[in-house]
Amino acid sequence: MELIIDQKVIDSLYEAKIFVQSPADDDRVIDFFRSNFGRPEVSIVYFVLTDKCNFSCSYCFVRNSMPDGYQERTMSMTTADRGLDRFCEIISRNQETFSKEKTIIFYGGEPLMNTKVLSYLLDKIRAYKLAGKLPEKTSLSLVTNGSLITEKIAKLLKEHAVSVGISIDGDEAVTSANREGVKGNPIYSNVMRGFKICTNAGVDVGVSCTLSVESVKNFQKTMKTLVDDLRIAGMGFNLAMATPGYPLPNGYAEEASKCIIDAYKVFRERGIYEDRIMRKVNAFVEAKVYPYDCGAAGGGQIVIAPDGQIGVCHGYLGERKFFCSHVQESSFDPETDPVFLEWSRRSPLFMEECQRCSALGICGGGCPLQADIDTGSIWGLDSRFCVHSKKTLEWLIWDLYDQFRK
Ligand code: SF4
Ligand code: SF4
Repeated sequence: MELIIDQKVIDSLYEAKIFVQSPADDDRVIDFFRSNFGRPEVSIVYFVLTDKCNFSCSYCFVRNSMPDGYQERTMSMTTADRGLDRFCEIISRNQETFSKEKTIIFYGGEPLMNTKVLSYLLDKIRAYKLAGKLPEKTSLSLVTNGSLITEKIAKLLKEHAVSVGISIDGDEAVTSANREGVKGNPIYSNVMRGFKICTNAGVDVGVSCTLSVESVKNFQKTMKTLVDDLRIAGMGFNLAMATPGYPLPNGYAEEASKCIIDAYKVFRERGIYEDRIMRKVNAFVEAKVYPYDCGAAGGGQIVIAPDGQIGVCHGYLGERKFFCSHVQESSFDPETDPVFLEWSRRSPLFMEECQRCSALGICGGGCPLQADIDTGSIWGLDSRFCVHSKKTLEWLIWDLYDQFRK
């Protein structure tokens, strides 16, 4: 079949920066973006309030990477106190960027197993905002399995404007295929109750949906749960991590990527925001390079472990690789720390294998931890994301083409 593309379409493709006049134009753009990235600028802190959890999920990459004999801990108020002070010191070293948006994320294990320290930190954060130690634009998030949410906790979260992300993978059968309580007890009704309590209390609540093998296989049902039952306004899909404890079958990345694209077609009709694809859509529409796919890549986040160690990615909590400081070390400076300097350049912009990839501009490079698991280095490729990025780009181009033809 002969494909005839008229001049109007070709001109539009130049305008959208999909076509360039010569490879030198491409190189100039990449050089420009390279010169703007590759320096750690911390704007996110993870407080791992505990690494204990009341659930046992087969795909949990934090749990699956914990060595035998790993001792789980719960963060003390003193550690939380010092951790917040360290974050404030780090962000206030650069007054030019201080007022830019910052994010504080409460994480676990299951963070609601340590509500005492959560509540303590929320009060302290409010006081620090008032005192100008934290910028006004500091947003707060809680990543939880939702099962321990009560009316009292929801009230606390609402009062402090904490947005909540609850992990829900689909309907009960899909969710239960990989998730149960630590005593083997069913968990679905508790998770859904937590979601409803938050909604009723007016908490800003979204869903974090891990595309497990089962939720991909039953994606129509997963969509029904998200759109019809939960009536979500915003959410994020996560590709499942391939670990020795949760190996992914051949073809997983292709199928999961198709699910994300199919969901986007529905979501854009209904005004539902899905974070995973919107990062790529925005980069494509705005013709801007999207350099990193997470806060760790870019050296943009610190993770405070329950015992006070500071690292760059919570996925390494078990083995403590890339944990390079402690809340007691006031001299810690991510801008000069070798770990953070290395991670700040972990972007397709600086990766040899990505230089001639058509998806470089929208990719972000996926998850360095997955690359490390697969290849032994954060500088390897996260092959799941290569599939996701390339499939998304192809679809975006055809979608744009269809719109030009209308
Ligand atoms: S490296 Fe992977 S696990 Fe760590 S923060 Fe980034 S996306 Fe998450
Ligand atoms: S799709 Fe893969 S090869 Fe292409 S830029 Fe992303 S990580 Fe690099």
